[in-house]
Amino acid sequence: MSDMTQKQVITRFAPSPTGHLHIGGARTAIFCWLMARHYGGKFLLRIEDTDLERSRQEFTDSILASMRWLKLDWDGEPVFQRARFDLYNENIERLLANGHAYWCKCSPEEVEAMREKARAEGKKPRYDGHCRHLNLGPGPGRVVRLAAPQEDRVAFADMVKGNLSFEASELDDMVLRRADGSPTYNFSVVVDDIAMQVSHVLRGDDHVNNTPRQILIYRALGADLPVFGHVPMILGADRQKLSKRHGAKAVIEYEKDGLLAEALVNYLVRLGWSRKDTEIFSRDELVDFFNGENMSGSPAAFDPEKLLWVNAKHLREATAEALAPQLVPFIQELDVATPDPARIRAAIPLLQPRSQTLKDMAAQMRPLLLSAKELPYAEEALALLEQEGCGHIAGIQEKIEVLTDFSKDSLHQCLRAYVDEKGVKFKVVGQAMRIALLGALNGPDLAEVMSIIGRTDTLNRLKRSQALFESGKSNIIK
Ligand code: GLU
Repeated sequence: MSDMTQKQVITRFAPSPTGHLHIGGARTAIFCWLMARHYGGKFLLRIEDTDLERSRQEFTDSILASMRWLKLDWDGEPVFQRARFDLYNENIERLLANGHAYWCKCSPEEVEAMREKARAEGKKPRYDGHCRHLNLGPGPGRVVRLAAPQEDRVAFADMVKGNLSFEASELDDMVLRRADGSPTYNFSVVVDDIAMQVSHVLRGDDHVNNTPRQILIYRALGADLPVFGHVPMILGADRQKLSKRHGAKAVIEYEKDGLLAEALVNYLVRLGWSRKDTEIFSRDELVDFFNGENMSGSPAAFDPEKLLWVNAKHLREATAEALAPQLVPFIQELDVATPDPARIRAAIPLLQPRSQTLKDMAAQMRPLLLSAKELPYAEEALALLEQEGCGHIAGIQEKIEVLTDFSKDSLHQCLRAYVDEKGVKFKVVGQAMRIALLGALNGPDLAEVMSIIGRTDTLNRLKRSQALFESGKSNIIK
């Protein structure tokens, strides 16, 4: 892409604050961000809030929060369209003055009737240019329309879809300024993209039909065209429009579910771009490799299972230092009085291979963070603790009391030695110890658990489980 190296790459993400950031929008934002970072350019953010009824501050806040979470940092301050009506009006004045736009007094009903007529004649429904030569001025209820050039075709080379060409006759004299004075989407986008010097307009292909219209506005304003790229929609596994029923959520929900931002970025990029058969990319690798080529022109299907798989991979590869602060909010939700940061840090490597999300990791970590007296013992686990198992717990307790080295390896040896001495199966001892240490039938490696929780806590748990067993037995006897 030689032209990209010649002029500065400036991309922009332009969400409308009418909802939270969803994965389709997030992927567009990621592509724009990657392009800008790859070429050392700029990534701008524009909030398209001209729809005064549907735009809400809470959605702007939520979109910005999701972008921050995804680490899609933007350059400069976000631009709010609502604050730029003067700019749109200046541009309208220019077009009116140079004959590229005109005032139109046709009411919505009259325009609808024209469309109806065209339909009845088997033509494409369009405004018929009624006011184009009437030389009208402003007035109540009047809109401003583009005097669209009567050319044959509007063509452009799309970064994603290749060469595209549209019949100009399908593009009527579109409204640029509504009767209430607000700019239409196509007009404000073009004015802003010119003013912000955007070099690459990358967006969802739901906008591909707007692009020839926007090109006409660029021409009327005498501005150079940016490079356009239209990214196919993300679909559900059934190839239908993506929705909640396919397991798709807002970005903010994935954060709450305990996904890693790096993983969501990786997964979403791969939904519309590829590099060999590689699935897992770090952010730095994506910035290195994403040069605007190899974006897929056909829609990809969203697969929640694969997203979890990608997340688990990233979770495994992250450092404990990076994960610990991200894990804390999830631990806080689990009602652990004062989790010991050193213990959290130590438990992370143990749980990395066993966890799919941060939330899942926090839940598995909970028994390790509670004090012995807070640890809940699952009924089904206690029910499986028998006299023999309890004897093993007591036996190992004795060994542990005098063990000098409390490292994982030393604890492993200690357990092994006990099993060998007694001539019993490790499985039997292991189950009893797992119940005693974790209150559950499943869990990570016992020696590692003991080395993480330390000698005092280990001994307290072993003692408490024996006491619970004794009291349970007496309950039964009673
Ligand atoms: N506000 C538009 C949207 O959210 C942006 C379209 C564009 O990028 O031009 O779909």
